[in-house]
Amino acid sequence: MKIVILDGYTENPGDLSWEGFEKLGEVTVYDRTPAEKVVERIGDAEAVITNKTPLTKEVFEACPQIQYVGMLATGYNVVDVEAAAKRGIPVCNIPTYGTAAVAQMTLALLLEACQHVGAHSDAVKAGEWTKSADWCFWKYPLIELAGKTMGIIGFGRIGQAVGILAKAFGMRVLAYDGFPTQEGRKIADYVELDELFAASDVISLHCPLFDSTRGIINKESIHKMKDGVIILNTSRGPLIVEEDLAVALNNGKVYAACCDVVSTEPVEADNPLLGCSNSILTPHIAWAPKESRQRLMDIAVSNLAEFLAGRTVNAVNM
Ligand code: NAD
Repeated sequence: MKIVILDGYTENPGDLSWEGFEKLGEVTVYDRTPAEKVVERIGDAEAVITNKTPLTKEVFEACPQIQYVGMLATGYNVVDVEAAAKRGIPVCNIPTYGTAAVAQMTLALLLEACQHVGAHSDAVKAGEWTKSADWCFWKYPLIELAGKTMGIIGFGRIGQAVGILAKAFGMRVLAYDGFPTQEGRKIADYVELDELFAASDVISLHCPLFDSTRGIINKESIHKMKDGVIILNTSRGPLIVEEDLAVALNNGKVYAACCDVVSTEPVEADNPLLGCSNSILTPHIAWAPKESRQRLMDIAVSNLAEFLAGRTVNAVNM
């Protein structure tokens, strides 16, 4: 089987191996593929592996030999899955691989907002401690989490993992989710959304991006929150109306916003959050520790191996 990997770089920038796929067929790996080169690069490959490179109806029409599409991600919105299904092509994703990593990053962002470890280390290295009149100094308020309340919107795998970490820091945990579970009840008190907004010192987003969740953090919802709330987003950028959040950051209603994801990625130069002194922004790295990427690789290889053995798994379109 000929296998083409259209945009392998973010999954494997060189610290992992493609050998799992190489055992299954003749593999060609591209770091990234622009839209106009997709058909040419697929060529006569029967298995197409993509992360964020779009596979449109036109691509499936131009490459009728495609038998299998494998995602290097959980999300598959870049693929016209219905067009694939009409041609009998399964689109197989990675349902979960990075729960611990995303939860860890969420707490890393929160701790940065509370302690500013990076900025304090930079200040020390710039000589500010050496010149300090006192034996210690701090450049930002330092915030203790114990006793504070974290409100988690979307209490699934990652939300619950974050809840467990927040509890370990001594926080009270509230959760909003349409599907409360027994496991969830052991970690958090389920509340309505407005109660969560009103009672939380920290609000963390872990729901998927749906029409019902797009813009869930906006002018009106921010108005319902405590003054000085901290907002964390390691889920999806469009959950936040960034213009509204920037206003609230600049007037101090929101103490800090820490986002691993933004509305358009890579971030656009005029994104309003870039200009806020109290935003902390990271380039969508929560998923990316090597351990998580290895897990993702293993599942992507196993998805294709299962397909070749006649047992399609993790198909999202059939
Ligand atoms: P999950 O499916 O286990 O949990 C999602 C939860 O959200 C579910 O419990 C669901 O009931 C709930 N939900 C659905 N609609 C909701 C609504 N309208 N309001 C509140 N809750 C709602 O998913 P997960 O594995 O925990 O992942 C959560 C999100 O994390 C993903 O959708 C993805 O956007 C994001 N993610 C980000 C990264 C990253 O690198 N930053 C990596 C992986 C996942």
